[in-house]
Amino acid sequence: MLQVDLIGSEEGWIGKSRLKAKICLVGEAGVGKTSLIRRFVLDQFDSKYIKTIGTKVSKKSVHLYDKGREREVEVVLTIWDIMGQEGFRELLKNAYFAGANGILAVCDVTSTESMNKLDGWLDRTYKIAGDVPISILINKMDLIARHQVNDEILDQFCKAYDCSRFYTSAKSGENVQPSFIDIATRIMMEQKHMRSDMIAIIE
Ligand code: GDP
Ligand code: MG
Repeated sequence: MLQVDLIGSEEGWIGKSRLKAKICLVGEAGVGKTSLIRRFVLDQFDSKYIKTIGTKVSKKSVHLYDKGREREVEVVLTIWDIMGQEGFRELLKNAYFAGANGILAVCDVTSTESMNKLDGWLDRTYKIAGDVPISILINKMDLIARHQVNDEILDQFCKAYDCSRFYTSAKSGENVQPSFIDIATRIMMEQKHMRSDMIAIIE
């Protein structure tokens, strides 16, 4: 569940508020979920493939500014990473998706199969987490030129699930920060019924 703390808010809206949000990464094994989290949280990349065993939870805050209420909002993201293997996934999915406030569905730009399989992931997620903000991350963009990307399948998913879309590279860092900030912002907007033009990014 989302939790909002107001800090020092006696003077109307002056002060800072904190919002906690759970984000889950989904997608086939090897698409770069663990690497994206590593890039976002530690600003590092490792070309070794370290298999995620079970789930791993990382934490990182983003700082947004709510112009309407003149206060800073710290969104504390708890980022859940899951192992890609089918059996394990089935076993863990309820605990994994329960209480999720946002989903990052990741595919590998060099693998059409990983894009096709997003549908299953999104469907499963939707059933457990409900109608939460979703983004599709098309990862490993360092391996391909933008004009070579076939957007057809992605267009369908984005329409069906009302997703944002980011072309990322955990290796170069391209678009990684914006994709996490976007989902944090959308989660905050859902919570506050805010307008997007009222939110500025501090960090
Ligand atoms: P996961 O199974 O989805 O967690 O995938 P990993 O994060 O473990 O990444 C799988 C492999 O892809 C690793 O060898 C990573 O180094 C590599 N990888 C991940 N992201 C990128 C990227 O953006 N570009 C490139 N070239 N390789 C990547
Ligand atoms: Mg992993």
